Amino acid sequence: MGSGLVYEGVNGAISAIVPDVSVVVPIHNEVESLPFLLEAIASTLSSSQISYEIICVDDGSTDGSGKFLKEEAQTRSDLKAVILRRNYGQTAAMAAGFHYALGKAIVSLDADLQNDPADIPMLLAKLDEGYDLVSGWRQKRQDGAVNRLLPSKIANWLIRSTTSVNIHDYGCSLKAYRAELLADMNLYGELHRFLPALAYIEGARITEMPVRHHARRFGSSKYGIWRTFRVLMDLLTILFMKKFLTRPMHVFGLLGLISMVSGTVIGIYLTFIKLAFGEMIGNRPLLILAVLLLVTGVQLFCFGLLAELLMRTYHESQGRPIYRVREVVAKKVN
Ligand code: UDP
Ligand code: MG
Repeated sequence: MGSGLVYEGVNGAISAIVPDVSVVVPIHNEVESLPFLLEAIASTLSSSQISYEIICVDDGSTDGSGKFLKEEAQTRSDLKAVILRRNYGQTAAMAAGFHYALGKAIVSLDADLQNDPADIPMLLAKLDEGYDLVSGWRQKRQDGAVNRLLPSKIANWLIRSTTSVNIHDYGCSLKAYRAELLADMNLYGELHRFLPALAYIEGARITEMPVRHHARRFGSSKYGIWRTFRVLMDLLTILFMKKFLTRPMHVFGLLGLISMVSGTVIGIYLTFIKLAFGEMIGNRPLLILAVLLLVTGVQLFCFGLLAELLMRTYHESQGRPIYRVREVVAKKVN
């Protein structure tokens, strides 16, 4: 049966038992689906003898989802309802859910019954094989062709070719994570689909598994084609993080130096022909180029230095080391 957790306190729960899995669900206006969803998660997990908690995050719903969740959470011990003050978006809702999750593993899935809770035990079994993140792959995706599947194909291709994570379907919400991995990651923007890429930066072992996907039964999708653009911007952020997070000076410093050196060489050449041959250099495009290269060079160089300082603050202020340890093994001394 349920995990039988005891929750206390307003902020962050104190639990008696650590469940095997916390199922995190972001919810924005999905009230019709919720009873089916809770039932499906509870029956799958309890029949597989997996102890669990369900963390439903109400992301500013206006259709009574929040009220329903609050009532349910008071009567059943396997549900924790986190009600956000307003609508923050799916990524923020997921991050809130991760924050309150206590399980050894964390599974995220959509509330709209498009993901199938029956796939959860399979993902957890895969985690047990030694992976840190198992991502669902909607092989037979049930969404509109032009407005959803096509942008998604392009986005997946872009993400696959720019981040070094080789999976097919980044957009699938059904994913399973080891709890320690999520504790190391911060989410912003539409970053939830880049969780595998972020996890890769954190040194995680990542794999994917085909999962079921159903058409929406109730309500409608919260997104349209515009999401693609936000996803693209986030892709740039991720690329930057992956490449430069710990060594911005290597990139900006080098570019700045190349630019400064070429500017100086051209400058010396122009001075030389002016002094040695008395040539007019005031109206030469080369002069403008030299000045431009010098100025840009100095700017890039300083930018690199600043970025270096920022990165240090970023890592040190949060106590974030620049490495991630999987485990430490040492002989016990008695
Ligand atoms: N969602 C949310 N906040 C939002 C938008 C969506 O919590 O601002 C939730 C939504 O309730 C659903 C999940 O995120 O559980 C995925 O949304 P949706 O099904 O609309 O996306 P799609 O499956 O069409 O990509
Ligand atoms: Mg959906």
